[in-house]
Amino acid sequence: MTPKIERFFAESWPDTPYLVVDLDIVAQNYQRLCDELPDTEIFYAVKANPADPVLALLRDLGSNFDAASIYEIEQCLALGIAPERLSFGHTVKKENHIQRAFEAGIRQFAFDSVQELEKLARAAPGASVYCRYLTPNDGADWPLSDKFGCHPDYAVELLCNAADLGLMASGVSFHVGSQQRNPVVWDAALFTAAEIFSKMAERGIKLSLLNLGGGFPSHYRTPMSELSVHTDTIKRSLRHHFGDDLPQIIVEPGRYIPGDAGVIQSEIILISRKSPDAKKRWVYLDIGKFGGLPEVLDEAIQYRIRTPHDGSATGPVILAGPTCDEVDVIYDAAGYELPLDLTVGDRIEILSAGAYTASYSSVGFNGFPPLKEYYI
Ligand SMILES: *Cc1c(COP(=O)(O)O)cnc(C)c1O
Repeated sequence: MTPKIERFFAESWPDTPYLVVDLDIVAQNYQRLCDELPDTEIFYAVKANPADPVLALLRDLGSNFDAASIYEIEQCLALGIAPERLSFGHTVKKENHIQRAFEAGIRQFAFDSVQELEKLARAAPGASVYCRYLTPNDGADWPLSDKFGCHPDYAVELLCNAADLGLMASGVSFHVGSQQRNPVVWDAALFTAAEIFSKMAERGIKLSLLNLGGGFPSHYRTPMSELSVHTDTIKRSLRHHFGDDLPQIIVEPGRYIPGDAGVIQSEIILISRKSPDAKKRWVYLDIGKFGGLPEVLDEAIQYRIRTPHDGSATGPVILAGPTCDEVDVIYDAAGYELPLDLTVGDRIEILSAGAYTASYSSVGFNGFPPLKEYYI
């Protein structure tokens, strides 16, 4: 919670649910990452919070942008962001979207398969391409499975294919998993990167780009190590595995930049028990999985919750969303406790909710409108 957001609550009283984001915190987080990782270029992962005010602010601060779709690219271009500051970081793209991006001046593309390289060679001839490889995601609250990235040994072969196809084989990328709690994973990923660089050098291709992806955490219910614990590990591992011969380094923070800057305000619709002596109360909010909290899937991301009765006696609750879908339960196994004084109509706050919320909300499931957003 920030003074600016407290003032917004005091002065405005919009109908819930809504997200309010303090842009000063977005700027601060961007600046802190720049300070912690000097000589590193930041490509903000647009999908974390693609609101125009966030993108415009980061544009003015000098950020670059990693886009996951042609639509995000076109949104950035419409905001006056030069194409040289954009990368198309998705490894799965329609060929005509690659072509549209290439015609708009985008020159950096991700890939993880020969089939995607063939599309890139046709639709973006001569473009600079980097290969995403798989790396362990242990310790991530929102791990990324095996959907993106190839086996590291295969990356060498693919980068050679890229060169054969007339593309610029520029380097590699990885992602350690979102909301990463375990800084050690960076070292494993960078060890692999150095191996790929040296195997490529043996084949006569000097790679120049190392893309560290995202994964930098926000502050949810489990206490989290500070950003510097991650960035110190990265700096130490880079020195260890690359010595003084550092390539161009880029990072793609998503969650970290807007996460802690946002608060969702929600209202309690109903508090009930399944039987008169049931231990747990069911607390139904006017926001749930479909209204902007998809990351509570499997109770993976556990937000901090503030209530008007904090400090008084608490009891166990099951938190649920407002829709008639039975999967729209927020927390049960996570063991949340909320004040016994809580009543219907109380407004509660979901903290650090600036990333992966509003843009994820359904357009009208059960008729509920998308989550409202205020950028202050
Ligand atoms: C989503 C994404 C990111 C951002 O990840 P965070 O964990 O939110 O920092 C970075 N790079 C790529 C390619 C992504 O898809």
